[in-house]
Amino acid sequence: MSLELSERFQAISPSPTLSIDAKTKALAASGVEIVNLSVGEPDFATPDQASLAGIAAIVGNFTKYTPVPGILDLRAAIAKKLYDENQLTYKPEEIIVSSGAKHSLYNIFMAILNPGDEVLLPAPYWVSYPEQIRLAQGVPVILPTDESTGFKITPEQVEKAITNKTKAILLNSPSNPTGAVYTKAEIEALAAVIERHEIFVISDEIYERMTYGTEHVSIATYSENLRNKTFVVNGFSKAFAMTGWRVGYVAAPQYLVSAMTSFQSHTTSNPASISQKAALAALGAFDPEKINLFQARRDFVLENLRRLPGISVAKPDGAFYIFPNAAKWLGLTYTMKDGSQVKLDSVDTICELLLTDVFVSVVPGSGFGAPHNFRISYATSMPQLQKAMDRFAEFADRLN
Ligand code: PMP
Ligand code: GLU
Repeated sequence: MSLELSERFQAISPSPTLSIDAKTKALAASGVEIVNLSVGEPDFATPDQASLAGIAAIVGNFTKYTPVPGILDLRAAIAKKLYDENQLTYKPEEIIVSSGAKHSLYNIFMAILNPGDEVLLPAPYWVSYPEQIRLAQGVPVILPTDESTGFKITPEQVEKAITNKTKAILLNSPSNPTGAVYTKAEIEALAAVIERHEIFVISDEIYERMTYGTEHVSIATYSENLRNKTFVVNGFSKAFAMTGWRVGYVAAPQYLVSAMTSFQSHTTSNPASISQKAALAALGAFDPEKINLFQARRDFVLENLRRLPGISVAKPDGAFYIFPNAAKWLGLTYTMKDGSQVKLDSVDTICELLLTDVFVSVVPGSGFGAPHNFRISYATSMPQLQKAMDRFAEFADRLN
């Protein structure tokens, strides 16, 4: 044989969001004062009651294997949350907790995809979706959107894209990276089309609480029929600032959850026992004041970006990202602080220069299927955002 990696692994590249964050932190550790707007991670602390529950779990020796899909208390509390906040009815047996929503998503793709099965994926998309679909030997079928439609797909687009190979459609509202939020009417129009076909819906609702005017609606509320085809994905990373604890979950019909539980039993077993206790305590600790904070940051960043010549930017209604379009900067020349000149041949180059010359870290749109855009995470403090906006303005001044 050979000592080569599998074809699956040869085709995979590191997550750009995580690798740019790592690169930014390494630069910062070397003494460069960087504003990090790359990784999507709330800047506030994990709620005290979650941290204390984690500590109590350690001290109380709650440090052994738990049931593979998570402790019953946590699954029951998630079911209650879905009922109270999302108008969705699930039994604890229809919920599986995993090591982050990223893990939950991978379980889903592995559970439903046969080689060559298609997953409809609206673009711009979060970086890990297409990679995970391909790892599960599926084929992402891109549904393009742009600023002109508010980065939203239409029912007609979905109808046209469905073939006899379509196994699922992925929806992510509020969206990473665009911040687009589908209204109730838009969700209903998409649901009406999807319901007519025997396909699954993967509804990634991890940013559900971060909306600024347009309420989040889960597509699984549309009808019993659609609920029975839908995987509702959510997690604790964003709403509770618990990115490092690694807790995500899926609610879906029991036969699907059972299959994913078998898979998880052979791959990772239960999510960390300590994190489960912390997550259980976090569920009651959401601070709605954070939403006002995010909205003020969004408004501030949006206003400043709109002043930059050549940059166009759609107003995002949710999540904590803004996704400006920098197409008009391509072909311009940037004069670096040391006087050397660089031709801007791609948004990747722009982001590299933003990082190395004016010390602002953002993520190029190429990994999100939108090569003319870049992503800003505004989940950071106002002073940091002010500094970043000053640096963007300085960058724009150096273009000609
Ligand atoms: N879905 C989306 C849209 C995301 O942006 C992220 C990144 N946090 C995840 C899922 C995964 O989150 P986690 O694994 O931290 O729960
Ligand atoms: N989802 C966040 C982001 O897009 C965190 C990093 C990751 O998991 O990709 O930045």
